[in-house]
Amino acid sequence: MNSPTSADRERQVYLDNAATTPLDPRVRERMLDWLGTETGYANPASTHAPGRQAAMAVERARAEVAALIGAAEDEIVWTSGATEANNLAIFGAARAHGERRGRRIITLRSEHKSVLEPCRQLAREGYDLVELPVAADGSLDLAQLEAALQEARTCLVAVAAVNNETGVRQPLTEIATLARRHGALLHVDAVQAAGRVPLDVAGDIDLLALSAHKLYGPKGVGALYVRRRPRVRLQPLLFGGGQEGGLRPGTVAVHQVVGMGEACRLARELMDSEPRQLAQLRQRRWSGLQQLDGVVMHGRSDGAPHILNVGFIGVHGEALAAELPRLAASASSACTSAQGAMSHVLRAMGVPEQLAHASLRLSLGRFTTEQEIDLAVEWITAAVDRLRAFSPVWRRWRAGASLDIMYGGA
Ligand SMILES: *Cc1c(COP(=O)(O)O)cnc(C)c1O
Repeated sequence: MNSPTSADRERQVYLDNAATTPLDPRVRERMLDWLGTETGYANPASTHAPGRQAAMAVERARAEVAALIGAAEDEIVWTSGATEANNLAIFGAARAHGERRGRRIITLRSEHKSVLEPCRQLAREGYDLVELPVAADGSLDLAQLEAALQEARTCLVAVAAVNNETGVRQPLTEIATLARRHGALLHVDAVQAAGRVPLDVAGDIDLLALSAHKLYGPKGVGALYVRRRPRVRLQPLLFGGGQEGGLRPGTVAVHQVVGMGEACRLARELMDSEPRQLAQLRQRRWSGLQQLDGVVMHGRSDGAPHILNVGFIGVHGEALAAELPRLAASASSACTSAQGAMSHVLRAMGVPEQLAHASLRLSLGRFTTEQEIDLAVEWITAAVDRLRAFSPVWRRWRAGASLDIMYGGA
């Protein structure tokens, strides 16, 4: 390890890139062109010259988003973020296809709330929702998916390519094949996959959600891929001026979508190098933490390269957070920890509640340095050692007790 200087010790280390990423300066630079008072403010739906210029910028950005996922330009719909994209995909597909394809919707218990909650709302409206369990390592059992598809006619399967809390990847190709075989549409939440693992909608993906602010772009903008050939019809959530082919009316936020376009362009440019760098940093962090005994990885080592979710046996979760004031990381999920409840993702994986609370999601990004990783590992190691000194659970673990005995079973 490099030995950190005293200035480093004052700094915050940001390891919460799965919650949001900083804006890449190159993205900000492009956005500024569309935030002027002299130029760059026209409505892209206007037919005058400045309007047409804005419309061209919007279409260039759309082409960049499309290129990142192997789609065509006319298959990308702008939204306010991935929450809206997931809602539009799920409500839109269920309402347009539920009658013909069947009223069953299949998703996973470990999905992001912006997938689970629209599905649950549809269940309240009379759709037949199946939330499939996941294994202890977070992966989906394809046989269970197939059984759920065989059991009832299904309009939609909704899964994340990469889980936002654990980095676990789901086998999209196999899922797509099963969905297609049973006449169901496939929606993929690709927010955490974009720029980290290869994505190609050519593999029978019908709908796919992206968010700019998880990809070094601005907050408040996202996109939904909607397959054109064969065309996937959606019922819109909003009705208005007919923009985005009527699927998402409202004046397009030019500076936002230009930012998202540039973020996607950079992600594609860096696709050969950045995931490898992230994987190296992740390995450095995992090796560092493994020096501590009693550390459990929630997820799989073949997960997305930027997320590592680890539990520390024999440590109280809140105490751990209090011991790490300079580490900006997430106690499993930003949304979940605000409510103080256990992460529904770790629960779905059968992680004992106390261990789930004593877990950290450390997520790396483009601007994370080796030195930051070393600092974080040093801080965490010191904090965990301090807390374990007083921990009866830790003493029992050291004496050979199993997790089940200590935590009362999973
Ligand atoms: C952050 C996130 C979302 C929501 O994206 P927003 O653009 O913030 O609405 C959806 N799915 C996953 C997997 C995420 O990580």
